[in-house]
Amino acid sequence: MDLCDRAPSYIRSIAPYQPGKPIAELARELGLDESGIVKLASNENPLGVSPMAAAAIARVLADLSRYPDGSGYELKQALSAKLGVAVDRIVLGNGSNDVLEMAARAFLSPATNAVYAQHAFAVYPLATQATGARGIEVAAREFGHDLDAMSAAIDADTRLVFIANPNNPTGTFIEPRAMRAFLRRVPANVVVVVDEAYQEYLPAELQADTVAWLGEFPNLVITRTFSKIYGLAGLRLGYALAHESVADLMNRVRQPFNVNSMALAAGQAALDDEAFVRRSREANFAGMAALTAGFKRLELPYIPSVGNFVTVRVGDGGEVFRRLLRRGVIVRPITGYGLPAHLRVTIGTEAENARLLQALEESLDG
Ligand SMILES: *Cc1c(COP(=O)(O)O)cnc(C)c1O
Repeated sequence: MDLCDRAPSYIRSIAPYQPGKPIAELARELGLDESGIVKLASNENPLGVSPMAAAAIARVLADLSRYPDGSGYELKQALSAKLGVAVDRIVLGNGSNDVLEMAARAFLSPATNAVYAQHAFAVYPLATQATGARGIEVAAREFGHDLDAMSAAIDADTRLVFIANPNNPTGTFIEPRAMRAFLRRVPANVVVVVDEAYQEYLPAELQADTVAWLGEFPNLVITRTFSKIYGLAGLRLGYALAHESVADLMNRVRQPFNVNSMALAAGQAALDDEAFVRRSREANFAGMAALTAGFKRLELPYIPSVGNFVTVRVGDGGEVFRRLLRRGVIVRPITGYGLPAHLRVTIGTEAENARLLQALEESLDG
């Protein structure tokens, strides 16, 4: 259609994000009950929603006729107190996807570029392309970010570098010392977005106070989400932490009411629900041990992961994915990430992990 031909070519050539297959969709296709399906495809929290967040959502229902607080005052106060960061350094988003896009819209335009790694989160090329900027994909090293190659790829037109730490879908991690060395090498006029969607799952010995680095690196933007350990993926809530002038720029491209009332209230309550976060971490460590032990037993190589998911080599990823679907188990094929022989599996409950391993064993034979 001529009308669409007049849209910029960089918009017309966007290949949309491919989400995990919804449970309801597979249930319709197989004529199964939804309760019989296991979804380990979107890195959701298998323990559900933080109970304190659920209670907060219920309290908001009566006020839904009102617009949300567009400044997110109370949630920002809570984040500020918890993280030790000034309120004017926080940008709230409709999921962290939203803040990643704000960073792209604030800094990228045609004739500039953004640098990111092969096998890194799919939103980086998408957000880059939507601005007309060029994406520079840097080859991975052992499935993870090659920081030397990434800093070498930065040129005079580079405005942004995207890094997922831990990375999705590979689960690889850049240790704090290496990350700091990279931040020191990157030119001060290039923004480095460090996406910490899985930060809360890191074992204690890998955790570092990256928020404190903001004082040292005004070009650092940290993004985090309530979709993973806080169990609020359906509500859409995330945030960025940045130097106040960078946060101010990002807020200029933010929709006025991008975060809804229920998300604001639930996020604030979830931050206080330390018991839920602790339970989620412990279940994740136990589930990771169970799944990786199962992969070893099946002699399937996997990429060691520090997230709430693990990527396993199965041979023909697409074929094994379809065989698992027929057994009512949804995982994530990652051919689009350049990993056609692998599948990404979210850590589930004990029962879900057992079901996946059983179905996987059967699927390897046909
Ligand atoms: C899941 C995930 C996010 C979070 O996305 P939301 O929009 O907050 O749901 C961000 N980055 C990475 C690398 C992820 O895997």
